[in-house]
Amino acid sequence: MLPDIEKLLQLQVADKEIRKLQEEIAALPKRVAIIESKLAGTKAQLEKARAASKADETNRKKFESVIQDLQGKISKYRDQSLEVKTNDQYKALLHEIQFAEQEIRLNEDRILDVMVNVETRDREVKAAEAELKAETAEIEKEKEEARKITAADEAKLSEWNAKRDGLRGSISDDLLRHYERVMKFRGSGLAEVRDHKCMGCQVMLRPQTYNEVRNGEQLVVCESCQRILYFDPANELKSEPAGSQVHARKRARPKSDAPQAWFYRPDYGDEGEVLIVFSNSGGNSTRRVYEMHSGRQIGDILTREGNYRLAFPEDMTDSTIRLNGHWDESEMDEWSAELPTAALDSLHADLRVAQKEHRSGHKEHAPSTHEHSTAS
Ligand SMILES: [Zn+2]
Repeated sequence: MLPDIEKLLQLQVADKEIRKLQEEIAALPKRVAIIESKLAGTKAQLEKARAASKADETNRKKFESVIQDLQGKISKYRDQSLEVKTNDQYKALLHEIQFAEQEIRLNEDRILDVMVNVETRDREVKAAEAELKAETAEIEKEKEEARKITAADEAKLSEWNAKRDGLRGSISDDLLRHYERVMKFRGSGLAEVRDHKCMGCQVMLRPQTYNEVRNGEQLVVCESCQRILYFDPANELKSEPAGSQVHARKRARPKSDAPQAWFYRPDYGDEGEVLIVFSNSGGNSTRRVYEMHSGRQIGDILTREGNYRLAFPEDMTDSTIRLNGHWDESEMDEWSAELPTAALDSLHADLRVAQKEHRSGHKEHAPSTHEHSTAS
């Protein structure tokens, strides 16, 4: 591996650590703010409960004073009744007294209501006070915790920053600029190459590019995502045999009567290697063609009468390999001018397994194709 790449890998680690620490430091005040707003809610609740309790007290006093007034009136009426001359006057006073007594009972009931309420109010106030106390303790703990974490993070951050500055000083300016520009737009400036693919953008590399990266003698950037590419033999050894064995056991045989069929064709005019998908529908068949490595659609969708095997005989050459794959027609319509990476990867993977199967003895298709396509 090139020394510059090794330094960049270390720089990438430092950059990621720094970003993580900065995010953590920024997130802590937000957590404290959330608890603080909860605390404000509890405070408001407590205020409300206290205000209600106070209003009850005021009401109780008001009813009591009303009762006092009424009692005063009654004793006045009683005094007057001793001096009345006529029966009618006496009856009128008696009526006033009865009315006042009725009013007193009404206000006594109101006081009773308030008294019953008071117990509930007291409970509410006490609960809110307890909650406030617990939350205040919690927020103090959280704040203390946040202070400690922030201090530790900041110490770590300054260590990583120093490390990063040291690394940056030892990497050439041009390379550093490229790395930082790509990182700014894509979140990372380096990508490992595995299984002939750039792991940053999942695009297959051209064989020459792949070999250059593998040799590790010069700096190579991914043509598709611009990340600086590197190769780690340890990872390639781990993934290659295990992965292919799984695929080899798993590969299903494509159904010959499926309404949709994918093919690999290595000899499609000037384009060379392509992926073709046919769909049979309502007596017609359609054909879409995609460039093998980029997944770019070549030409328009072609529709012909009849089953695709009969309608497109020119594509059914000896070197064509049938692949596993099925996507909804509506989904494919949305792909527009390019195969999505996931579909492309899946077809590539199936092709590799199919070619391996053919090499190891299956002779369903012309052997010349397989030698041709694996030579690259
Ligand atoms: Zn890439």
